[in-house]
Amino acid sequence: MLIVFDLDDTLIETSKCLTPHYLKMAFEATQRAGFDGKFETLVQINAKALSSRLALKEFIGNHSNATQIFNSALEAMKTPIPEEICLDIVPGALEVLDHLQETHDLALVTAGDLHLQLQKMKKAGIQPERFSKLVVGTRPTKKFDYQMVLEELAIDPSQGIVCGDRVSVDLTPAKEIGLFTVHFRNGRGRIHDAPKESVDLTIHQLNELCEVFVEQ
Ligand SMILES: [Mg+2]
Repeated sequence: MLIVFDLDDTLIETSKCLTPHYLKMAFEATQRAGFDGKFETLVQINAKALSSRLALKEFIGNHSNATQIFNSALEAMKTPIPEEICLDIVPGALEVLDHLQETHDLALVTAGDLHLQLQKMKKAGIQPERFSKLVVGTRPTKKFDYQMVLEELAIDPSQGIVCGDRVSVDLTPAKEIGLFTVHFRNGRGRIHDAPKESVDLTIHQLNELCEVFVEQ
């Protein structure tokens, strides 16, 4: 089988370790661009948002200079992670990858800025070489990235599994092309669990994957 992982909040603790820093950076950029919202408001919106990008959009609202303010905030969120910030790996993630790669192909499909995603992996101690295929997508849906991985590795969707924390982002596009989907209730995935029909299996700890898939 091929097991495709998401990165943020699936293998690394992005929401816990990085989001507070990047929200602050983004907030300060909005201030410099002339927006006068409160940081606490952004934090509250983000707590329920599917992504910090969407949280910023809602926070800025329909301010007359919204596009420029939003773009300034997005740029601030692409800056490298400062040395002093630790980035935790999800408990057991390395052991799970070690275990699964004995009997399966592993791939990683993440979205965002290429350099930042690679920096996160390095900081958390996840070697890119572990994965037969690594995609940092920039398209609005992961569907084409999944399709590309399947095609390049010559694997039928019936032989593929996707594990991610956000159902609508990671799993719905996977389900649409016939992959088996695993919802890991971590990070933003603790509250973003819809649509339910996109989920074949729900786990609360990453090592549950080994129990289910190690024999297949
Ligand atoms: Mg994620």
